Amino acid sequence: MQDIALFETPGFGRVLTLDGVIQVTTGDEFIYHEMLAHVPIYAHGAVRSACVVGGGDGGMLREILKHPSVEQAVLVEIDGAVVDFCREHLPSVSAGAFDDKRTEIVIADGITFMAETARKFDLIVIDSTDPIGPGGVLFTESFYKDCARCLAPGGIVVNQNGVPFLQGEEVTDTWRRRKPHFADVGFYLAAVPTYVGGFMALGWASNTTDARAASVETIRARFQAAPVTTRYYTPDVHKAAFALPPYVQAFITD
Ligand code: SAM
Repeated sequence: MQDIALFETPGFGRVLTLDGVIQVTTGDEFIYHEMLAHVPIYAHGAVRSACVVGGGDGGMLREILKHPSVEQAVLVEIDGAVVDFCREHLPSVSAGAFDDKRTEIVIADGITFMAETARKFDLIVIDSTDPIGPGGVLFTESFYKDCARCLAPGGIVVNQNGVPFLQGEEVTDTWRRRKPHFADVGFYLAAVPTYVGGFMALGWASNTTDARAASVETIRARFQAAPVTTRYYTPDVHKAAFALPPYVQAFITD
């Protein structure tokens, strides 16, 4: 259903595109996947059930499954061809995550899955394409309302929310569409070289304010108690990521 292409590049390693848009590179995917997985998991403190919407390259699954507390990880991917292609041509990204006994792969539209499931998740990661094409529905208020319904107490939703310098309206849209459905809505940042224009914004929503407010001492203690191997994430980077420059903060408006 999507045009899948793979490029070998000198600076970013292998690069996957879908319908001509860069999705993941073996050179810098660790930044994006570490920040979307470990920030909510260490902020929450006891994630057992996770749902990844999109994420067909397997990188989100890989990072989430590094945590022994995680008992199940459901991948809801609309295009099975992406999973098959990445399993064969980008094996370092999934690194066996598709075959982990805790993994369940559901080939479906994320908006349909979230509207129909009765399951509850401690963590929902929306690792989708941009709000164009099949990914568009994953940036709607109705989808966010269903995500809120599918969160367990203390649960957290995170998502890729574009590059504010070039796509600031995506921050404003997410803020306005989530505010009616979550106790806590915010954003944090990661410097992902692939996504030109400066920081990438990562969306945050939770049915509690406690998770985002967890102190750096608490995050450090959790990290020391259950460490994972990282190249970008640290407890200090975690807390600093929520410090938004005024030009980004300005997009958070009712
Ligand atoms: N890191 C990338 C980014 O920041 O844009 C995302 C990479 S991941 C490959 C994006 C995945 O979202 C793709 O595999 C695509 O098929 C999937 N996707 C797009 N729309 C979807 C939908 N409505 N439901 C489920 N998966 C969807």
